[in-house]
Amino acid sequence: AIRVRFAPSPTGNLHVGGARTALFNYLFARSKGGKFLLRIEDTDLDRSTKESEDAVLRDLSWLGLDWDEGPGAGGNYGPYRQSERNALYKQYADKLVQSGHVYPCFCSSEELEKMKETAKLKQLPPVYAGKWASATETEVQDELAKGTPYTYRFRVPKTGSLKINDLIRGEVSWNFDTLGDFVIMRSNGQPVYNFCVTVDDATMAISHVIRAEEHLPNTLRQALIYKALGFPMPIFAHVSLILAPDRSKLSKRHGATSVGQFKEMGFLPEAMVNYLALLGWGDGTENEFFTLEQLVDKFTIERVNKSGAIFDSTKLRWMNGQHLRSLPSEELIKLIGERWKITGILTESSGSFVEEAVQLLKDGIDVITDADKALSNLLSYPLYSTLASPESKAVLEDKLSEVATSLLVAYDSGEFISALEEGSAGWQRWVKSFGKSLKRKGKSLFMPLRVLLTGKLHGPEMGSGVLLIYKAGKCGVVAPESQ
Ligand code: GLU
Repeated sequence: AIRVRFAPSPTGNLHVGGARTALFNYLFARSKGGKFLLRIEDTDLDRSTKESEDAVLRDLSWLGLDWDEGPGAGGNYGPYRQSERNALYKQYADKLVQSGHVYPCFCSSEELEKMKETAKLKQLPPVYAGKWASATETEVQDELAKGTPYTYRFRVPKTGSLKINDLIRGEVSWNFDTLGDFVIMRSNGQPVYNFCVTVDDATMAISHVIRAEEHLPNTLRQALIYKALGFPMPIFAHVSLILAPDRSKLSKRHGATSVGQFKEMGFLPEAMVNYLALLGWGDGTENEFFTLEQLVDKFTIERVNKSGAIFDSTKLRWMNGQHLRSLPSEELIKLIGERWKITGILTESSGSFVEEAVQLLKDGIDVITDADKALSNLLSYPLYSTLASPESKAVLEDKLSEVATSLLVAYDSGEFISALEEGSAGWQRWVKSFGKSLKRKGKSLFMPLRVLLTGKLHGPEMGSGVLLIYKAGKCGVVAPESQ
């Protein structure tokens, strides 16, 4: 049976890298009818927090990556928090002691430091070369009797090598002589991370381990533990790093990096999921737009790329716009309308204004927060003011004065306003006769008119824009501060 897991350490927020690992595991499980597990790796008690666990769970749910087993979902392989599995780790550690794969090491930290220094001087790899690997039973009993603190070390073969077939990276091999006997349990009885992961993956019957490339060095240690415990090894797939546009490791200094931040910034979970999937995966066609279901349908691990993927927030924005505009129209209107209500631009009674405004402005909205700017831009200029921005004025100098004078006349007489009262048909009729009286049409009419009426050289379709600005004034929509 296919069983995969996402195993976050609850020491911070869900990073986009972690979210992509979770997504690939989810897609792998769902596309193969397998199970997707969530395991909380909280062995680092000092750094793990409940808040972080809650945040990770919340962000995964927001993305729509529901898990079949784990916190909140139950399952027959629990508990799903490492901090609740200590008895199990102890049991397997004892097993390894009995089989001789693990031995107690009584070296003090000073001794270990010294060994490291010596190795460095002799230019040898910093592997454990202490005496306890070959200590006699009596020597061990003596130290135990004295109460000397000890760790458990795993006995690594001195020669030989190990090879795995990574689903993404192909063959990966290691020589044992690069690895010293490593600690699996600290002197305070705390099991060490690599040991816990192995025991967990084995006892949770994980078939495929899909995780970040940075865990590749751990795989050698874990493989040795699998063999020593007689567990079958899972199949590994190590996903490449996510890089910043300058190809350095993506970090906070590149801007938002956690799923929670993107959520707060108004991104859609559908767009996040789509974009994360493209970080190292594609279906082999030009198509880049996928819903979660389509991803489940198309995903294969063989198509995951082994080179680093660049996180491009501009592309994510663009992708969000694609998803936003593909929402059913009522949903988009509701979403943007709610946003405008929250930011105070709209009153309860704004009526069909929202619908018309969304239709007019949606192409300029990639992220929901752009909606504020789009509307404030539209409303930031009083309809009949004859003041244009200095640069607009310079461009249109000669044309402005004549059109402006006539516009003021039309406004003062009430003719312009009563045309607007009639909506689209009224506007059409007015513009036509206004142009006729001035012997202007096309650009020489519309450019100055646009500047005079909206204060800008460019914008959405003028008639709808003008009508909307007029309507805003009548239904209590206030121009937000223009940005
Ligand atoms: N807890 C590890 C992490 O958050 C994951 C380890 C694994 O997937 O094996 O990086």
